[in-house]
Amino acid sequence: MRSLSEKIAAIAPSATIEISNAAKRMAAEGVDVISLSIGEPDFDTPAHIKDACVDALCRGETHYAPSAGIPALTGAIAEKITRENGFAVQQDEVLVTCGAKDAIYEAMEAVLNPGDEVLILDPAWVSYEPCARLAGAGVRHHPLSPATFQVDDTLLDAVGPRTKMVVVNSPSNPSGAVLDAASIRLIADICRDHDLYALSDEIYEKLVYGKEHVSLASLEGMAERTITVNGFSKAYAMTGWRIGYAVAPRPIIRQMEKVQQHTISHPTTFAMFGAVAALRGSQDCVEAMRREFERRRDYVIPALRDLGYVTAPADGAFYAYVKVDGDDMAIARSWLRDAHVAVTPGTAFGTPGWLRASYATSMENLKAAIGRIARV
Ligand code: PLP
Repeated sequence: MRSLSEKIAAIAPSATIEISNAAKRMAAEGVDVISLSIGEPDFDTPAHIKDACVDALCRGETHYAPSAGIPALTGAIAEKITRENGFAVQQDEVLVTCGAKDAIYEAMEAVLNPGDEVLILDPAWVSYEPCARLAGAGVRHHPLSPATFQVDDTLLDAVGPRTKMVVVNSPSNPSGAVLDAASIRLIADICRDHDLYALSDEIYEKLVYGKEHVSLASLEGMAERTITVNGFSKAYAMTGWRIGYAVAPRPIIRQMEKVQQHTISHPTTFAMFGAVAALRGSQDCVEAMRREFERRRDYVIPALRDLGYVTAPADGAFYAYVKVDGDDMAIARSWLRDAHVAVTPGTAFGTPGWLRASYATSMENLKAAIGRIARV
């Protein structure tokens, strides 16, 4: 047989897989494993969103839709961004995608050429690098300050002659850090000075605790060079619906739409009607979930610090990022083996020596997990 794709073979499997597979194996054998490796809200999708999807399905919204997404949704997204995110967006500057992940992949395909480089700020979510590599581009990593998880002047040194795009993720998965105004300003200055595109992944924008989320595209001169990515998975507990979106200047959206036309066509038609209800309906459900995450964070971060751990700021998303002494992979394995608590090693996010513990699980589970960690 002829050999398979070298491009795909070169993409490393995720470092999260070993621990999560081991945790699943143990659970299947009847071990009471507490998983803090979850990357999704533990809430059900709010009823009015499900109802709107079911209504759409029952009235026959089961056919192909426009490849950019149903107009009711692209319109609602353009209004939402214009109203909430500090920059004006037209309906034809919106593309509805199969989750934020698909928007990230399509954006990279739309903008990058082989030989271009993407600048990734570590710790970073696991899929940015593979998406860049699928688009044929190279990747350069730059560490955020491990004390503050903010950007400083050293970012300038990381920009090389081939750098074409910088990926920004605030609030961050895995660190929970929210970039402050100075960091966002610095990134914007560097993008403008070096003619870089920015991909701003704002999927956790609604999950902030006492901090303000600032959209990169709202800064002067940035809307014209920023692809803002967002979606419904985290804010509305809709991970399985696979609805996300990108907002960008028309030429970029047109390129992304071509990728979409020849691959997925568009997200599921009746699911998009649910997403319209999410944006047009009451936002009380979002605030209720945010408050519950904040309550858990207010328990889990002090509890970890009481055990002597240093943690990242945890101002957003639903992750505690915990500094450990030694090999994070080995420590994650030992927590699983000895405490039956599954966490994600920081190596997966480009920062060995840290563990990511998700607090998207019940308070009861969190209390039990802290008790077990204390014992090991
Ligand atoms: N971006 C970040 C930072 C994430 O943590 C995730 C999911 O874990 C995604 C994007 C993908 O979200 P979606 O479910 O909308 O594809």
